[in-house]
Amino acid sequence: MLPTAFQRFWNLFKVDTEDMTLVRAQYAAFSRQIPLLYFILVTNTLSGIFTFAQQAPAWIAVWVPLAICAVCVVRAVWFIRNRNKTFSDAEVVRLMRVTTKLCGLLTLSFTLWGLFLFQYGDPYARGQMVFFISMNVIGGAVCLMHLRAAAMSVIFIANVPFVAYFLSRPEQTLWALATNLALVSFSMVVVLLTYNRDFAKLVASQTETRRLSDENFRIANLDTLTQLPNRRWFFDTLASLHQRAHSGFFRGEEARLAVGIIDLDGFKPVNDTYGHATGDRLLVEVGKRLQGICGDGISLARLGGDEFAILVTGQVSTDGLKSLGRRIASTLRLPYQIGAAKAQIGSSIGFALYPDNAGTPDMLFERADYALYYAKRHQRGGTVLFSAEHEAQIRDDSSIEQALKAADFERELSVVFQPIVELGSQRVVGMEALARWNSPTLGHVSPGIFIPAAERIGLIVTLTRTLLRKALAEAALWPEEVRLSFNLSAYDLSSSESVISILAAINGSRVAPARIDLEITETAVSQDAEAARAAVDTFKALGVGISLDDFGTGFSSLSHLHSLPLDKLKIDRSFVTDICTNPASFKIVKSLTALCADMGLTCIVEGVETGEQLELLSSLGATFVQGYYFAKPMSGEATRAYLGVVAEPEEPTILRLQS
Ligand code: C2E
Ligand code: MG
Ligand code: MG
Repeated sequence: MLPTAFQRFWNLFKVDTEDMTLVRAQYAAFSRQIPLLYFILVTNTLSGIFTFAQQAPAWIAVWVPLAICAVCVVRAVWFIRNRNKTFSDAEVVRLMRVTTKLCGLLTLSFTLWGLFLFQYGDPYARGQMVFFISMNVIGGAVCLMHLRAAAMSVIFIANVPFVAYFLSRPEQTLWALATNLALVSFSMVVVLLTYNRDFAKLVASQTETRRLSDENFRIANLDTLTQLPNRRWFFDTLASLHQRAHSGFFRGEEARLAVGIIDLDGFKPVNDTYGHATGDRLLVEVGKRLQGICGDGISLARLGGDEFAILVTGQVSTDGLKSLGRRIASTLRLPYQIGAAKAQIGSSIGFALYPDNAGTPDMLFERADYALYYAKRHQRGGTVLFSAEHEAQIRDDSSIEQALKAADFERELSVVFQPIVELGSQRVVGMEALARWNSPTLGHVSPGIFIPAAERIGLIVTLTRTLLRKALAEAALWPEEVRLSFNLSAYDLSSSESVISILAAINGSRVAPARIDLEITETAVSQDAEAARAAVDTFKALGVGISLDDFGTGFSSLSHLHSLPLDKLKIDRSFVTDICTNPASFKIVKSLTALCADMGLTCIVEGVETGEQLELLSSLGATFVQGYYFAKPMSGEATRAYLGVVAEPEEPTILRLQS
């Protein structure tokens, strides 16, 4: 019992190192106050020297205290100089122990000095000595409040000898003084211990608050599905890395920074076919594979959906980025086994470099996004680094967008028509409407350019409505047996507003819905499969036919054949161009025509330019063809002449247009 109580009491004089966070907080608090303590000690001692210099021998009245003061000054200077330095845990513990020991030693020196001098002084001087000791003890206890062991040493080492000395004296005043000193010391110990406990609790609660806020920060920056850093983290990190590279501290390759955006090709069909749970697991697996590739100097994040991003720092070179892109693409292309489902996807990557391509973080991201957009359109599955040509392209794009915004669609847009021919009978069974734009500022602009531009700036719905009205007005003049094919963009399928606008145009025309085919592309379907499916169902309900255009150029062609109620399939002209010279193209067209026959779909082969191609196609059993061999796209008037439409008398036409 006694030894444990004594042990506990003894422990109050030791530096407790169990909780290092607390120890560090204690060190931070007392190291700021300790120069002040030395200041109190030195001024106190100097006033003692002043009082006793005439009453006691010089060595004890002056030289000894000056020597102790010198030690105090050295320590104070050390603490002031090192106040902003960061120490390791071991160093902090060592400093606390050294300080505790030194404080004990200094207190002992001052106490012995005081006791020794006590005999020399007159009553005033003795009174001052008691004041000196009390001040030192109070100053020590207050300034060392956070370093309990040192404060305890100061209180005990200073007071016990004095109390004992005063009690041993015959003067009753000194007994009263001794009792007073003992009681005040006891109170100080109580205050000290209470304060220490409260300080420990405060630090613990601050640590918990910090832990919670760290945890909140972690969660706020984490993508819950893949456990990768998220979009917020990515943009924050991009900003700080850019700041670092921009600071001018890093030189050459070190000062470069690359942003890479990775977009999965063919992820949506996996989601649509196997369900969202499988899609989610696929994304987790993609995250893991990407993590496996990202080494030092590469940070990875998921931006959302099937889009990931990387930040490359350190030795950034264009060759390095290209090979990194190739590694990513080949790793992500390997098959995925998710439960019973086996999936295969691809990925396209766009990179932009700081400072080569952009100066600000936002711009850098935009440029990487452009490079990705370029890869998706022209180099699917590849890695594209933003270049000077892209820069020029962006300028062109923006001038096209400006002109398109200012365009008078009614006047500047027109439709031309290209016949679709039945091979056996050489009969024209339909006409495909193709958009033309003659801009007063830019001249003729190809639909391959202005249609994506209209999609980007949100004008496609108005554009489609104008073109469809014009095409229907022409088709109303053709023989009943000639159908009209009309191209729709992905955006035309994605909103109910555009679908209603198309239905209204068809219903408001003099062309029966059964004479119309709407051409949709695979990209349109893969962009938003659900919306595309709903739109296609609505069109089918009206009685129009649906053709899948540019077949074979998309990513997951076969899954769309299953999921959509299609009537026709158009084999892309890229397979026909070299059908006579490239055995691969020949085989593709052969199997696609066979596939159409199997599935009961009408097959139209696009881009036939020569008789040789035509012969080969008819040997493969192709039934419907389209291409320059028969006719180039022609104006409404030329189409009417081509179809042998007899011009109607003028008056009724005018009346009809007015009505
Ligand atoms: P598409 O629907 O596949 O149209 C066929 C394209 O191939 C047309 O190009 C046509 O002029 C061209 N073509 C036809 N036969 C031959 C041939 O034998 N040889 C060669 N080299 N080319 C041939 P165009 O008119 O430049 O249209 C390009 C694309 O723009 C179209 O491809 C279509 O995707 C899009 N487009 C055209 N008009 C519209 C429209 O009104 N709305 C929408 N959303 N897209 C349209
Ligand atoms: Mg087409
Ligand atoms: Mg086509």
